[in-house]
Amino acid sequence: MNKRPTYSIVAPIYNEEGNIPDLYKRISHVMDSTGEPWELICVNDGSKDRSLEMLQGLAREDERVRVINFARNFGHQTAVTAGIDHASGRAVVLIDADLQDPPELILDMIERWKAGYEVVYAIREKRMGESWFKLFTAKMFYRLIYRITDVDIPVDTGDFRLMDEKVVQVLRAMREHNRFIRGMTSWAGFKQTGVQYVRQARHWGETKYPLRKMIRFALDAITSFSYFPLQIMVYVSGILGVLAFLAIPVVALLRVIYGMEFFGGQATTIVLVLLMSAFQLFFLFILGQYVARVYDEVRGRPLYVVASRTGFDGLSGVTPPTAALTATPEAERVGEVSEKDAS
Ligand code: UDP
Ligand code: MG
Repeated sequence: MNKRPTYSIVAPIYNEEGNIPDLYKRISHVMDSTGEPWELICVNDGSKDRSLEMLQGLAREDERVRVINFARNFGHQTAVTAGIDHASGRAVVLIDADLQDPPELILDMIERWKAGYEVVYAIREKRMGESWFKLFTAKMFYRLIYRITDVDIPVDTGDFRLMDEKVVQVLRAMREHNRFIRGMTSWAGFKQTGVQYVRQARHWGETKYPLRKMIRFALDAITSFSYFPLQIMVYVSGILGVLAFLAIPVVALLRVIYGMEFFGGQATTIVLVLLMSAFQLFFLFILGQYVARVYDEVRGRPLYVVASRTGFDGLSGVTPPTAALTATPEAERVGEVSEKDAS
């Protein structure tokens, strides 16, 4: 009969029609070789191409394929979250749909998991087929995050990872809106280890992370796991204060020696005022970033809205993920507000 799957593979999908057939082929080939039951959960994150039809077609043919269809594009990290919420495996694997993450590596992850590790993340030893700009910014990003965050987030790891159900439970209980999943997994703790791999070029299509989304992602990562940007204000203001304090006797002295020609004009004042304003506005921006995120959390909106689900009822006999039901009120899961909440 239908058994609870051992493995849940979660793939976020945003306009990936050219990748879906090979993704399915490679994942099913790899997972079948384990000889254990598995499911593939695809989260359609508001794709505008034929991704949804293709996924639903797969779900009709193979009852191990399940589809969660978002009502609009909610973003990569949220799509992954919905997949985690709906996964019923004992281990959950997050994988990108563009085959940059080779499904074959899942076997190595499983080996480590069976050896007792609760999180096995994939370390990008090398990245192929990406622009120097992406490589450079990614490299800087991972190192910056490593330095300034309070949890140890291993460098050069993405979301490609296997997590034991214990870790998955913790993630399900974390309902924050600005999500940085790899940071959240590190925060959860447990025994973690990495396996190395060479990140391939995208199988088909273009990156769904334009600069705008990359910046947003980086800001989420930093503000969710570090107060460092807020704390540097005190150093900057300290340095400026000391400089200003030192400037007073210096200017007075120069005036005495050289007379009014020195610092007589307005130029220096204007430059200093501009400089100070720039500093102040920059730090106000940082402050605003945190305040906006507090506002996001306080509103308590659902993380995502599901328009439809395919393959979750009856087919496999797997009960709905209980942890997701308890960790997340039903209203939040389906994106509705009950009468009680609304009053
Ligand atoms: N993705 C998504 N929603 C988005 C952007 C991306 O679900 O708004 C998915 C995308 O389909 C892919 C994964 O997230 O499976 C990673 O995106 P991408 O490969 O474009 O990022 P990159 O590898 O270039 O950083
Ligand atoms: Mg990619």
